[in-house]
Amino acid sequence: MSFKDLQLNKPILKALAENKYENPTPVQLRTIPLVLEKKDVIVSAQTGTGKTAAFALPILQILFDRQDAPKKGKKIKALVISPTRELAIQIEENFKKYGKHTNLRTTVVYGGIPIEPQIERLNKGVDILIATPGRLLDLHKQDEVNLDYVEVLVLDEADLMLDMGFIDDVRKIERLCTREKQNLLFSATMPLKVTELAKDILNHPERIEI
Ligand code: AMP
Repeated sequence: MSFKDLQLNKPILKALAENKYENPTPVQLRTIPLVLEKKDVIVSAQTGTGKTAAFALPILQILFDRQDAPKKGKKIKALVISPTRELAIQIEENFKKYGKHTNLRTTVVYGGIPIEPQIERLNKGVDILIATPGRLLDLHKQDEVNLDYVEVLVLDEADLMLDMGFIDDVRKIERLCTREKQNLLFSATMPLKVTELAKDILNHPERIEI
């Protein structure tokens, strides 16, 4: 099966071809159709399996296809929470790469560096935000980020997020978004705490194990 068979649109297929991606990986094959159907998913997959594209591609597709597509709006429509800044940066690079021929705007915010440039970027308007939990909550406390319009929430590396003590932050962030959103949870391992979190946050999720 090819990316074309997964019903991805031309700007995304073009970016994939430029990056010499020929065929979807197993996690992409199984996850992309479900995300496009607006299902919640809980995916156990390790880094290196292509899991970033498994959520990035359908998110870009959903947002690109939408009639009220971006350009000037300031509404964050997709939010990806990542436990570390390195991972957050990598995820942003992936969204930029795959979304190169779309007009969707992606940015990343994380702690340990000045907050002002991040505020400036948010003020210019962002469709897809990748964030580490602490900095995102700081920005929210300062009223610099609005999560009211988030349609897709991704919790990446959920097990690591819990190991690093971000459980309360993650739950808080989830509550700051609307209830009707789509939720995607990715984790390398599925300890009880991750399945409990999934049970609280996800709505009738489809399970994918790679
Ligand atoms: P990830 O598991 O998301 O960290 O991805 C691992 C690596 O595989 C990254 O360098 C991706 O750019 C690459 N990759 C992801 N999907 C594909 C694909 N379908 N074909 C070729 N490379 C891929």
